[in-house]
Amino acid sequence: MVHTPHSEVIVIGGGIIGSAITYYVAKAGLDVTVIEKGDLASGTSSRCDGGILAIDKDPGFDSQMSLISQKLIREISGELKLPFEYHSRGSLLVCETEEEMAAAEKWVKQQKKAGLAFRMLDRQDIKQESTFLADDLLGGLECATDSMVNPYLLTYALFDKAQEFGAKILTHTEVTGIKKDAGGSFRIETPKGELTAKKVVNAAGVWAPRIGEMAGIDIPILPRKGHILVASRQEPVGERMVMEFGYLLSKFGGERKVDPETEKYGVALVFEPTESQNFLIGSSRQFVGFDSTVDRNAIRVMARRAIRFFPRMSDMNMIRTYTGFRPWTEDHLPIVSEVRELPGFYIAAGHEGDGISLAAVTGRLISELILEKSDTIIPAEPLRYDRFTKERGGVLL
Ligand SMILES: Cc1cc2nc3c(=O)[nH]c(=O)nc-3n(C[C@H](O)[C@H](O)[C@H](O)COP(=O)(O)OP(=O)(O)OC[C@H]3O[C@@H](n4cnc5c(N)ncnc54)[C@H](O)[C@@H]3O)c2cc1C
Repeated sequence: MVHTPHSEVIVIGGGIIGSAITYYVAKAGLDVTVIEKGDLASGTSSRCDGGILAIDKDPGFDSQMSLISQKLIREISGELKLPFEYHSRGSLLVCETEEEMAAAEKWVKQQKKAGLAFRMLDRQDIKQESTFLADDLLGGLECATDSMVNPYLLTYALFDKAQEFGAKILTHTEVTGIKKDAGGSFRIETPKGELTAKKVVNAAGVWAPRIGEMAGIDIPILPRKGHILVASRQEPVGERMVMEFGYLLSKFGGERKVDPETEKYGVALVFEPTESQNFLIGSSRQFVGFDSTVDRNAIRVMARRAIRFFPRMSDMNMIRTYTGFRPWTEDHLPIVSEVRELPGFYIAAGHEGDGISLAAVTGRLISELILEKSDTIIPAEPLRYDRFTKERGGVLL
């Protein structure tokens, strides 16, 4: 008889979310196996920026959740063996108009009231931030607790530590089917054979709906494409992440006063310095299915936007571009939840543009849900899967 490998927990997906879950579940002493169809971090987690941000989160639950995730990353940074280019220097949003300055003041007030380390910046602060920033910027705001990581390295560092705690990792192994047997165990089918587990976590990012289909679960996540431009190595342009205030509107779907092309591609400036001085310029936001081709027009609009905020970039060389898919949900919050209709099946996906920021808190929360802890690190209610099923008529089968 062929032996079927069994684990207490199987995590499907080897991105940043899968890595954080595996780390916390293995650390808690559970026997966990990860199944990844390609290499680790071969999905969105290697096609993004590395901001661990609260600056762009809705004041309230969203920003509190980010703040906790930032604290967890700080904790973890002292524990992981592999370096992941962690820098905690804060980040800023810059304003072009008086209207944006007024909105920024409101945003700062709300965030400060919620206990976050926000402050307004004036023209002089912006000048001091970087000599490369445009002279006509009116000011902006800063969130002091924000940090940056290399998301690819963080994914590997978390998996590395999880392996030390006993986690097993199967790469180049695609999950092709999921069944629940009479004994209550899940049977996970792959072209390399079957595995069984008591509990399964779907951490497949934009592919989570496909994994859901295999289990008869309708998961409302769509791919929201983003482009990034990578600069050649050169003198430091700035030390921290800089975004334009309009980024908030672009993220949350508000009305912006920009030209039709910038609006069409959902372009808003994101500048991220990297440790090797190949700074990143982002980004765009589009719903175009799973078309990952680089759109030259989107890149042109992004470059134009970057030069508006950093005029001297017009003389700098860009060496490559790439695209990634943000796992988008309608209410901009991820699904981090057990599926009531299918006990033992968990979803940890739908983090849109916040998966790097929220990986640690997601991993910790899923480990606590699996361990059936009543006192979780953040309230689990707002992230429940059934907030969508109530409206949508629920599961497929
Ligand atoms: C341009 C851009 C900029 C961004 N910037 C930031 C930022 O600054 N800060 C931030 O917090 N977030 C950012 N994000 C968002 C962040 O990148 C994502 O939220 C995050 O990477 C999602 O991680 P994940 O693990 O859920 O998905 P993924 O990294 O895609 O991992 C899912 C994994 O599941 C695997 N998989 C799929 N199907 C199967 C199967 N059948 N069997 C086995 N394995 C399977 C895939 O191969 C993949 O590796 C950005 C995203 C983009 C596109």
